[in-house]
Amino acid sequence: MSTMNTERVLEVRHYTDRLFSFKTTRDPAFRFLNGQFTMIGLEVDGKPLLRAYSMASSNYEDNLEFFSIKVADGPLTSRLQNIRVGDHVLVGRKPVGTLIQDSLLPGRTLYLCATGTGLAPFLSVIKDPEAYERYENVVLVHGTRFIAEQAYDDFITRVLPQDEFIGEMVRAKLRYYPTVTREPYVHNGRITALLESGQLPADLGLPPLNRDSDRVMICGSPVFLKDLVAMLHQRGFEEGANNRPGHFVVEKAFVEK
Ligand SMILES: Cc1cc2nc3c(=O)[nH]c(=O)nc-3n(C[C@H](O)[C@H](O)[C@H](O)COP(=O)(O)OP(=O)(O)OC[C@H]3O[C@@H](n4cnc5c(N)ncnc54)[C@H](O)[C@@H]3O)c2cc1C
Repeated sequence: MSTMNTERVLEVRHYTDRLFSFKTTRDPAFRFLNGQFTMIGLEVDGKPLLRAYSMASSNYEDNLEFFSIKVADGPLTSRLQNIRVGDHVLVGRKPVGTLIQDSLLPGRTLYLCATGTGLAPFLSVIKDPEAYERYENVVLVHGTRFIAEQAYDDFITRVLPQDEFIGEMVRAKLRYYPTVTREPYVHNGRITALLESGQLPADLGLPPLNRDSDRVMICGSPVFLKDLVAMLHQRGFEEGANNRPGHFVVEKAFVEK
């Protein structure tokens, strides 16, 4: 039996010359935990060309959504960026990943810290009622270089709070903190620096980051991961895994080649 489903593209949205998102049909038998990723791709010269992608949709939604980079000479995304409604993409049947609720010990505030397309798994998590049931606050921090890269800003601030199913929980508990490094915006600076100085929690009226009450999920560039993990270790946070919950969990948003 094939390890891949073939899904039909239902919608494509381009944000910048480096970012786009798309929705596809979803095989009803494809089950995943919010925050997980799977292999997706295209058939090229009769063979599957696959890469890891986080599901940006939540596991109760009828369709799948992915948030993607466009790498000009990237084997997959130089092609994937040209997909249109009605085209087909391959979606792996075996979702995996560490950014799941059970990998974290109970806490009061959940920080979801992403750079770039690292936002994708957290789009799934902020639609998950379980996240709001487990925590008093869910803080979504998204760092990008430019404002235009805050691709889901409108969805997070306007659409999701009005959602029939999850809107009430979102309005009560979700705190959104977009931050940009290369032009003036509502918040500016690197996530690690904003957490380290205490400015980010203070801006939200929360106490400085501490391991007794705060849990952190991290997804972003390799450098961002390294810096933030070092800071958390300094504060006594321990990394969790699927079979051993901890104070934080990490996933790479991509691998530097
Ligand atoms: C666990 C995991 C989850 C991932 N989830 C996503 C996702 O949800 N969305 C997504 O767009 N990508 C995601 N990626 C990256 C993805 O697997 C591919 O690398 C990406 O689609 C580019 O594929 P490519 O074949 O065009 O180029 P590749 O040959 O795969 O990459 C070429 C180079 O482009 C850069 N690059 C690749 N991906 C990114 C990125 N996302 N952001 C910035 N620079 C990048 C890196 O420098 C890389 O070395 C994920 C990777 C991992 C390991």
